[in-house]
Amino acid sequence: MSNAVQRARPDISEMGRNTYDLLVIGGGATGAGVALDAASRGLKTAMVERDDFAAGTSSRSTKLIHGGVRYLEKAIKQFDRTQFNLVRDALKERSVLLKIAPHLARPLPLVTPLYEWIQVPYFMTGLKIYEWLAGSSNLAPSRYVDAKTALDRFPMLKPDGLRAGVIYYDGQFDDARMNVALATTAADQGADILNHASVEALMHENGKVAGATILDHETGQRAHVKARAVINATGPFADAIRRMDDPDIEPMLTASSGIHIVLDQRFSPPDTGLLIPETEDGRVLFLLPWLGQTLVGTTDNEARIEPHPQPTEDDIEYVLRHIRQYFSLPVERSDVKSAWSGLRPLVSDPNASDTAGLSRDHVIHISDQGLITIAGGKWTTYRKMALDTVDQAIQQAGLSASDSQTEHLALTGGAEYEAFNAGRLQEAYGFDSDTAHHLNTAYGDQAKHVADLARDENLSDRIAPDLPNLLAEVVHAVRSEYACSTTDVLARRTRVAFLDRDAALQALETVHNLVRLELGWDDERAARDIQEARAYLG
Ligand SMILES: Cc1cc2nc3c(=O)[nH]c(=O)nc-3n(C[C@H](O)[C@H](O)[C@H](O)COP(=O)(O)OP(=O)(O)OC[C@H]3O[C@@H](n4cnc5c(N)ncnc54)[C@H](O)[C@@H]3O)c2cc1C
Repeated sequence: MSNAVQRARPDISEMGRNTYDLLVIGGGATGAGVALDAASRGLKTAMVERDDFAAGTSSRSTKLIHGGVRYLEKAIKQFDRTQFNLVRDALKERSVLLKIAPHLARPLPLVTPLYEWIQVPYFMTGLKIYEWLAGSSNLAPSRYVDAKTALDRFPMLKPDGLRAGVIYYDGQFDDARMNVALATTAADQGADILNHASVEALMHENGKVAGATILDHETGQRAHVKARAVINATGPFADAIRRMDDPDIEPMLTASSGIHIVLDQRFSPPDTGLLIPETEDGRVLFLLPWLGQTLVGTTDNEARIEPHPQPTEDDIEYVLRHIRQYFSLPVERSDVKSAWSGLRPLVSDPNASDTAGLSRDHVIHISDQGLITIAGGKWTTYRKMALDTVDQAIQQAGLSASDSQTEHLALTGGAEYEAFNAGRLQEAYGFDSDTAHHLNTAYGDQAKHVADLARDENLSDRIAPDLPNLLAEVVHAVRSEYACSTTDVLARRTRVAFLDRDAALQALETVHNLVRLELGWDDERAARDIQEARAYLG
């Protein structure tokens, strides 16, 4: 039998009877990171997320854990110390994430093709500075390779005009599963974690923010939840929460959108990524092997802030055009298995002229009423952002707590993930090798529970024929990972919807029926779920 931790959503009325030290609004990377940092320091913590964990930007990233070679270039060109510090801090965080979530994150070599000899010293110098900034946390030395070796490593490249290449290393991860792991680890540290629950208004007492009115969309219940400090970690929506605190407040964020497309595994080798260093509009483009497919992105366009941004056909064509330019393999619109868009929350800088020039660093802002807003940054630096935010909250609300624990705290699945490696899972349960590998890298030491469910509850069929995911994962997602809908399962517990939209559409009914059974839905709730899943898949 599976002995997985079963996690139930907390009761909102019960939450309304508590006074928390910290109430965190938003359950993306930043909010979940803050909730984990606070709970593991012994603070009484609640986190609410109006949709699902990672439903916003945090499931839509390029999935790189990096210092940002592009930011390094800017630091060098502008002699900008702040940018150097940003890269250095992110590189330190890279090594922490690889350690606390070794199942979800791993080093990835990336090839950069070079078409002019002058680029060789330019890139090698940059990468050596990158390594120097990483210090003892460097993953592996970057190196120059000749054109033949570059082609061996990335055979899809066009050989015409290729002079040489450089290979360097960064981290790669599954962003939405990392976000879920942050949320479940926070819950296991004692936090009340509630997805599908919105903050509708802030409560004030004696002119200071003292909690929030929260609507639980699953139960339809509302509660006034009191807290000594309230953290606004709503990413691109931070200004909307700030306006609940002060309707006349000046906005502090703008957003830029970035799209990704997914192609099949023919477009990348299984173990090496590609960095195209300069697109037609002077940006970088990544082609990365990801979960057995190829992830390509991204773009950077000024954008309106909305919950469900969609990629435009122009954006998709822009990405395809660059692949055609660099690849000998033909690529058509029909090769695109999935495409999505995400919003970068950018802290406003009135002097910057375009969104690529705005700071990616994080800003912690405390309003006159005491609302603490944490905005900006990137996935890689969520832990440092969380630590800084909780430090500020402790100081402001006069709380007593230990120092941050998160540098050495394994996330759910990370503590003993090697004990359930692919070989053992294959041997013990007879899984195909792709499924065994997938269970190990998606669930770490929790893979055994998924495997037990597959065997004991007859859930060993695949969700989609060409993907390694099993039906057991649907049940595990509901029982142990707070999944409340078919979309939660298809998009963020498994990544089926991100990897192959048609496969997700075909699996929709089966996944829905399992979720419905687990959650005991009536017809009305079930119909809403199907409708939402169809709308999500477009
Ligand atoms: C295209 C793109 C590529 C990127 N690639 C990388 C990368 O490779 N590496 C990297 O390190 N970073 C990357 N980033 C940056 C990174 O993804 C973001 O910095 C990070 O995900 C932001 O997380 P967040 O929690 O602040 O915001 P979000 O993930 O958007 O979370 C905010 C949450 O708040 C919730 N919310 C809003 N209003 C309310 C309310 N009233 N009540 C309750 N909840 C509410 C939302 O539903 C949302 O889930 C990328 C970003 C983009 C857009």
